[in-house]
Amino acid sequence: MLSIRTQLGIVKSELICLIYVSKFLNGWKVHGGVKIRSDVELKPVPMPKWKLTTEFTFDSAHYIKDYDGPCGRMHGHSYRVQVEATSNQLHSSEYCPHPVMVADFRSLRWAKKDVTKGGLDHGVLNEILPPEYETTAEMIAKYIYDVTKKRVPEGVRLKVRVSETSNSWVEYEDDESES
Ligand SMILES: [Zn+2]
Repeated sequence: MLSIRTQLGIVKSELICLIYVSKFLNGWKVHGGVKIRSDVELKPVPMPKWKLTTEFTFDSAHYIKDYDGPCGRMHGHSYRVQVEATSNQLHSSEYCPHPVMVADFRSLRWAKKDVTKGGLDHGVLNEILPPEYETTAEMIAKYIYDVTKKRVPEGVRLKVRVSETSNSWVEYEDDESES
């Protein structure tokens, strides 16, 4: 009985609430939290959107731990990388005080640098990447994504593609809805 009464109580209060809302909205509608006349046609405000893509390569050695086959032995690739940065606004950077770019190219192309200068070029990826990243193209893409994400302005969405061979690519991106 108690649960029935509770349910009825909720229904009653919801009903009263609906009556108030329908009176309040009589001839009006709510758009973006603002009450406006229902006969006013609203058009979506277009949002600017920039997409910046940069591509680079780096040469490095790696092996896949515990892989039963050639990939388990030390070998090398000329990795191709594409980093795509998308934003609804432009930003300044460490090198430019004016808000004129999605993200500075330098912050997107860090992995191209020599390993002795903080990049991934001419190194052994198994020694460069933290242990939680295996050196598959999938996890190299995630690693580049994770490091790059910390270097770009907040709100910039990223997509990172990595290719070990000419006929295959892997892609890693934000789990955010398109805007
Ligand atoms: Zn390989």
